[in-house]
Formats: sequence, structure tokens, C-alpha cells
Amino acid sequence: MSFVDKIKYGEKAEQDFNIRTAMEEATRCLLCEDAPCSKGCPAGTNPGKFIRSIRLRNFKGAAETIRENNILGGCCSLVCPYGNLCEKECARCGIDEPIKIGKLQKFAIDHEKESGMKILKAPEKKIGKKVACIGSGPASLACATELALAGIDVTIFEQFDQPGGVLTYGITPSRLPQEVIDHDIQQVKDLGIEFKMNTRIDGKDGVEKLLKEFDSVFVGVGLWDASVPQIKGIDAKGVYTAQEFLKNARENNGNIELGNDILVIGGGDVAMDCASTSKQLGAKNVAIVYRRTIEEAPAYYEEIRYIQNMGVPMITRFAPEEILTDSDGKVEKMLFKSWDNVSELSMKADTVVFAIGQKASDDYANINLPDGVFANGDLVNGGLTVVQAVADGKKSALDIMNYLGVKEAK
Ligand SMILES: Cc1cc2nc3c(=O)[nH]c(=O)nc-3n(C[C@H](O)[C@H](O)[C@H](O)COP(=O)(O)OP(=O)(O)OC[C@H]3O[C@@H](n4cnc5c(N)ncnc54)[C@H](O)[C@@H]3O)c2cc1C
Ligand code: SF4
Repeated sequence: MSFVDKIKYGEKAEQDFNIRTAMEEATRCLLCEDAPCSKGCPAGTNPGKFIRSIRLRNFKGAAETIRENNILGGCCSLVCPYGNLCEKECARCGIDEPIKIGKLQKFAIDHEKESGMKILKAPEKKIGKKVACIGSGPASLACATELALAGIDVTIFEQFDQPGGVLTYGITPSRLPQEVIDHDIQQVKDLGIEFKMNTRIDGKDGVEKLLKEFDSVFVGVGLWDASVPQIKGIDAKGVYTAQEFLKNARENNGNIELGNDILVIGGGDVAMDCASTSKQLGAKNVAIVYRRTIEEAPAYYEEIRYIQNMGVPMITRFAPEEILTDSDGKVEKMLFKSWDNVSELSMKADTVVFAIGQKASDDYANINLPDGVFANGDLVNGGLTVVQAVADGKKSALDIMNYLGVKEAK
């Protein structure tokens, strides 16, 4: 049995650095003058600078650099695909292996928390402008932070009862514990930003209403509708979209009824998350079925490896054909057809999870935004990463300040 087999839902998969291991790792840093690692971060978190601080045992300075540049520094330290970003650019790649930038970032943010630092402060005097942010995911949180730091009154409107978007309702807690999300979001709340929860803003009509009360509006609603194939049996009990499944698991602290046989359909990171979550929830047999080849799967290589280490098979080149149910309308089996229409596959299933793509809700898809309204994050970029959403939110904050004729906070 491998190590990852033993992880239960909500248990942490990775050990954090302590002072000794963090110092050892920071000592490997070449202190490159041009810091290619820093150029690899879309949000400008500036690892070159914060690793230099850690190396000089200035943990406070390291935390300041991270928090000032990236309001979700804690979350990003755990969920960023570093291998494709900062660590890919690290000069040590050409020598042995890249500096573990994410783990050093987590170490600095832990120091911020443990020593009770309050790095960001909104100006006491407000400048008399009001902005509404729709959604409380990474894009809105980053946008709201920049605006609040410039003295703007910000209100966030969120449809669910907890803030964080995919951080809170999507990413599995073994990779992103709730206390890390809470600590990052507390930094946003401490800037005096108002959160209006359980408040859905309906597309263009809702945005126009907000514009009567606010000087500008940011739309960061992400992609919360799912693509599902219109096959026979799709409405059966026990069939979920990835969003429904992960949100349900998170809201119930992992206490959900799954059965023994779980099928996850898809080949992206979200499918991998659904499969690992099913395993951590105790399902005996979990399998992924994907319609293309492993090489074509959009999931990061590390994620596929992780899942394989858990003992989850990935069956490729089979597409969903039909869902068969018992007399209560509950899923019992699923049928697939091979890519060349020659072979058929029948698999037993107590739960089926479709993770084949997210899309914008109908009221935000192709929305024509009125003057003074700015959109960004997954809704605009089509669904990328947390750190990209932070970068997008920061960019929109600048656009909004420009629109309002407000200077950026120094
Ligand atoms: C399962 C899953 C796992 C992922 N894993 C990773 C990962 O490991 N690393 C990584 O970097 N990225 C990951 N991503 C991608 C990343 O989470 C997203 O790119 C990022 O969250 C996008 O941020 P956002 O603010 O644009 O949208 P979201 O995070 O989707 O936030 C949008 C918010 O708007 C709210 N909202 C929607 N409609 C309305 C409305 N009409 N009115 C009010 N509120 C509304 C939603 O409830 C939500 O809170 C993952 C995505 C998924 C789905
Ligand atoms: S590129 Fe790598 S070695 Fe150079 S400063 Fe950044 S982390 Fe250090």
C-alpha cells in the first residue's frame, strides 16, 4: 500500500517545512539577480525576493512580500502548479532540481499566522467611491483587496453561504485545508470589505441594478454550470457533476453516501480531484474513464501519477453511451463505446461523476457588459488556475481605478 492510499478525506497529504528544513532549502537558492522564478508567477508573488528574505532569516520580510503581492499567498502555496510556473523557471533546474518555492511560501505564510502579523492595512480615510464585486472566488478577492487598499468601499456579493469559490467548494481539503483558506480570507475581511453571502446577482439585470448604487462593478462569477452528455439515464439518482460532488463532500465534511463502485468521467485535473476524493472517502473501487489517450488528457502529469499511485485505473478511449438504473431509478451500471465504435464496455457503478468541463451560467455566458463593469477570472479566461485568477483580479482592479480616476495604493 502506498502512502497516498492511507490519506483520509481532509487529512493533509504533504508535510510543511519547519525552520530547519526551510533554511536548508532556502540555502540552495542561487540568489539570481534576474530571479527567473519571479517572472514565472502570473500574480507577481515575487519568489526571488521572499526566498532571499528567508535565506537571511527575515521571515517577517518574506511574509510581507508574499501578502503584499498575492492576497491568496497561503492558498497558492498549496495549490499552484509550480512545475509549470515559478519552479519551471528556477535556475537550479539546470543543476539538480528546482527550489521548492511553494513550500517556502507556505512556511512564510505560517510565520505570518503564528506571529499574528497584520500586513495589509486599508487607509482610514475612504475616498468616497463604491465598488461591488460579484462572486467571492480568487478573482474577486484579489480585485476587492486592491480596491480597498486604495481607499474604495467594496462590497462582495456571493451566492453561496461561504466565501472562496472553488477554493472552498471545489479543491479537495487534503490539498487545501479550510484553515489556510480562512486565514487568507480573514486578511481580506480585515480590510473592511463587506461580504453579502447567499446573495445571487442575476446576470445583466442584476449588474445594472448594482450600477445604480455602486460606481463600478466587478464580475468574477467563475464557471459554475457543468457540461454533461445528453445520454440515456443521465438524470439517474447517483449521477453528479464534479461541482455537485465536490461541494457536497466539502459541505458534509466527507460524510456522504457513495457506495463501493465509483466512476469518474473525464481526463482533466477536476476528474483527478474527484477520483482522489472518492478514494479518500473510502470508496473501494474507483475508476476514471476518458474518451481520449492519456497523453491527450489535460490533467497535469503529477496529478495523473498521484491518482495512479492511489490504485485508480484510467481507462482511455471509451466514451459514455448509456446509464442503466435499478427499479428505484438509481444508477447500477454504465455503458461505454470505444473511440472506433468497435468495442463496448459495461461497468458497475454506485456513483457516477461527470468531470468533463465547466461553463458559465446562462445569465453570464456571452454577457454584454455595460460601461463601468469589468469581468475577469475563470469567466473570462475559460478556467485556468487560482494564481491566474488572482492576477486577473488585480488587473481588473487597476482598470476600475483607472475608470474611476483613482490612484493605485502605494
Ligand atoms: C475541482 C477544481 C479543482 C481545481 N484545482 C486547482 C488547483 O489545484 N490549482 C489551481 O491553481 N487551480 C485549480 N482549479 C482552478 C481554480 O480553482 C480556478 O481557476 C479559480 O478558482 C477561478 O477563480 P474565480 O474567482 O474566477 O472563480 P471561482 O473560484 O469559481 O469563484 C466564483 C465565485 O462566484 C460565485 N458566483 C457565481 N455566480 C454568482 C452569482 N450569479 N451571484 C453571486 N455569486 C456568484 C461562486 O459561488 C463563486 O464563489 C480547480 C478548479 C476546480 C473546479
Ligand atoms: S530562480 Fe531559483 S535559484 Fe534563482 S532566485 Fe529564483 S528560486 Fe533562487
